Amino acid sequence: MQKNHKGKELVAVLETWYAEKKRSMPWRLNPTPYGCWLSEIMMQQTTYAAVLPYYERFLARFPSVESLAAADEAEVLKQWEGLGYYARARNLHKAARSLVVDGKAAWPKSAAEWAKVPGVGPYTAAALASVLKGEPVPVVDGNVARVFARYWMISEDFKKLPARARLAERLTPEIEQAAVPGNFNQAMMELGALVCTPTSPDCGVCPLRSGCAARRKGVQTDYPIKVAKGSVPTRRATQVIIPDEKGRILLVQNREGGLLKGLWELPTVEPSIGLTQVFSHFKLELSTVKVLRKDAEFKVPGSVPLATTTRKVLEAAGFEL
Ligand code: SF4
Repeated sequence: MQKNHKGKELVAVLETWYAEKKRSMPWRLNPTPYGCWLSEIMMQQTTYAAVLPYYERFLARFPSVESLAAADEAEVLKQWEGLGYYARARNLHKAARSLVVDGKAAWPKSAAEWAKVPGVGPYTAAALASVLKGEPVPVVDGNVARVFARYWMISEDFKKLPARARLAERLTPEIEQAAVPGNFNQAMMELGALVCTPTSPDCGVCPLRSGCAARRKGVQTDYPIKVAKGSVPTRRATQVIIPDEKGRILLVQNREGGLLKGLWELPTVEPSIGLTQVFSHFKLELSTVKVLRKDAEFKVPGSVPLATTTRKVLEAAGFEL
């Protein structure tokens, strides 16, 4: 029976594969703290193909952490627009400001220091310290968890941090034997992204195939085990497009906190306020929507003449006229 690769052998197999198969990414050509950090943040929950144009545009606009620190948050969010998970952009900007001291960048020197930077979790901290400083700390992201859940047939819920921490511990003796710890980490992640993919692992070309426990048993896609999620509530909202006479669209800035804070949105409306008005020759059934804008107090200008229907609707909605 073939055995799992261990220690130096596992490291060598992965490093050789990585040297041959790794994708060329701009931040891999000449790893700088700023480029690697930016790419790590952009790659969280986002694919390489989606990130690449954003990465290049972002760097063209903010070529250094100093220029990022000096920018307005609105401009940073603008460059991020479409990439999603905007808290990442806000944290990146906040972090840039904390990293620049007296006009110069003071970069973290270890995974522990990186983990203190806003928006940098334990996984990203390990990735950055291993690539930039050669620190032998294993990265356990979703890709790595999938590869080793299959390779060692580990029945743990890798969505949970303690399971990831245990896997990191198990991989520590391996990475300590790597000549270039950053390459070992990137090899594991790259293998998960390119070969040991979630639904169709390409075991025939996998450098770990001879030692993979799940492959031997033909149960690759049963790992990592899936743990049933609780149901997610559904919320419904309606957004309205209100142009002015010049064709400009009314947008409101979200000031309520949460993921969308600071972004501009179409006005969101509440369910309708119903009213029936009887005129001499027809009956009007009216639905009115109220634009939600919790940062502003609604006021009706006292000086304008109001149509009766409008007056009634506003009264029904609780406005003082
Ligand atoms: S042999 Fe298949 S299941 Fe095992 S690590 Fe490689 S790609 Fe994944």
